[in-house]
Amino acid sequence: MIYFDNAATTEPYSEVIENFYKNSKEQYFNASAGYLPSFNLFNNLNSFRKQIIKLLNGNESDNIIFTSGATESDNLAVFGSCFNKQKKYLFSIGEHPAVYNCAVNLRERGYNVEFINLQKNGQIDYDDLQNKCDSDTCFVSIMSVNNETGAINDLKKIRNILDQKSPDAVFHVDAVQSFCKIKLDVTNCKINLLSVSAHKIHGLKGVGALYISKGTKLKNINYGGEQEFGLRSGTINYPGISSFMEAIKVSSLNQCENYRKVLELKNYLLNKLKNVGKTVKVVSDENCSPYIISLIFEGNRGETIMRYLESRNILVGTGSACSTNKIGNRVLHSIGYSKGEILGAIRVSFCANNTKNEIDIFVENIKKYFEEVNT
Ligand code: PLP
Repeated sequence: MIYFDNAATTEPYSEVIENFYKNSKEQYFNASAGYLPSFNLFNNLNSFRKQIIKLLNGNESDNIIFTSGATESDNLAVFGSCFNKQKKYLFSIGEHPAVYNCAVNLRERGYNVEFINLQKNGQIDYDDLQNKCDSDTCFVSIMSVNNETGAINDLKKIRNILDQKSPDAVFHVDAVQSFCKIKLDVTNCKINLLSVSAHKIHGLKGVGALYISKGTKLKNINYGGEQEFGLRSGTINYPGISSFMEAIKVSSLNQCENYRKVLELKNYLLNKLKNVGKTVKVVSDENCSPYIISLIFEGNRGETIMRYLESRNILVGTGSACSTNKIGNRVLHSIGYSKGEILGAIRVSFCANNTKNEIDIFVENIKKYFEEVNT
């Protein structure tokens, strides 16, 4: 099988599965219990927090809360930062539903919510941000890499705008598609909150984390045993978290090498597509993350192309896997693509284990699809 849907999820590394199995079998203790085996787990968790903070170039006094995935991290970041209905909450219109739907919910509950437009290249419109940011703005959520187009938002540029216009606003970044793929620096960009997920970097599903910079005010949004500094009640998923650390270790060690490989794959694919004989629009330009490539086959249905490829053992995405049941595509629509173009979109997303040979087979099958459609 050829798997080109790595932005939806990735195959877990074997080290991750081994780590999960070993810890589930041997370290099944409740990390919050009062005996020594639990203390050991608790100490390990604190060391894991420090490792993630270091990787993000945070400070020792910053914190990490382990969660059930980025959806939970995003919900905690947004709803945990809502203290005042009179203040302004800004979100990029291109956010993943894990953030976007929180924003919609806040607006329905009477909060002052505004959305930042996107530019044609998929990045946020920095002028729009500049215009909408003011001294009333208390929260800004803008993702690092867009999960549909691969567009990379310039977090430093955003920080400079916030420094000028809303220096006290809490800055949240959904970094799911950039963590361990593209350099992140929470200190340099003065990021307050940052969400990550294990299963996008070859870890397991159901594990994630929220980075919280020192002094950032956040309230809990669930109630229970007050684990994770009172911010995330629920028995700690030690084996899941420990295996997440394994995924982080392997992915971060190979981050530069993986990026180089994937960039080569992207360039190879785009070159090959020139010979398909059909007009293929590439949404994801050279400034986008090489891991995610959004393509538009205008006049065709992306859904049909996806099914055709699936019948030949090639898996690609149409837009976000989390929103396949939704009609249209908010992100492509915001960039300015027409309904017809959006219908023809597919998403190819790589990991470093993909190969040029797989791309050859993919492109051959795209060609065959058009031959069959036209005969
Ligand atoms: N944010 C982004 C940018 C994503 O791509 C995803 C998953 O597709 C999520 C959040 C949700 O992550 P999780 O599956 O860990 O809840």
